[in-house]
Amino acid sequence: MRYPESLLKLTRALSRLPGVGPKTAQRLALFLVFGREEAEGLREALEGLGAIGVCRVCGNLAEGEVCPICQDEGRDRTLLAVVETVADLYALERSGEFSGVYHVLGGALNPLEGIGPKDLNLEGLWPRLEGVREVILATSMTVEGEATALFLAEELKRRGVRATRLAYGLPVGGSLEYVDEVTLGRALEGRKPL
Ligand SMILES: [Zn+2]
Repeated sequence: MRYPESLLKLTRALSRLPGVGPKTAQRLALFLVFGREEAEGLREALEGLGAIGVCRVCGNLAEGEVCPICQDEGRDRTLLAVVETVADLYALERSGEFSGVYHVLGGALNPLEGIGPKDLNLEGLWPRLEGVREVILATSMTVEGEATALFLAEELKRRGVRATRLAYGLPVGGSLEYVDEVTLGRALEGRKPL
């Protein structure tokens, strides 16, 4: 059986998305072939992605030079949460418990995969520490996340900045992204000095 080439192309593109297997990809592709309105909405949304870049201050996503959080005058700039990914930043925002600003590392230390401090967005972090009273190390509860938090705690101590870690009670081995808002909010409230 020969499928139309454009259907195959769409199916292949969809199957590269996380959590989408070949069957789901084909189902979605067929849905879009018949659902022209949805396809058009999707096309417009995808075109809009071109306007998204990275905030030059914190590493969050931004439409323009600086992200909405860094632009927000109401955020507490003396409180800074260090996260691994933008998805983790969004998770903390959903908890509604954090009023400070963020710094997105773009990953975690992983010596086995050759990811060292130079591969993380750290150069941008040090100049931001002036006037900061507390840095919350909100990296994942994974081996890599813990190693990153310990590394940063040492660096911050050297620079005379107070560092805290999210309270335990978060699932070990997990990314913040998948933790529910209430648990994450509590972990934030009960953070411990490092
Ligand atoms: Zn920002």
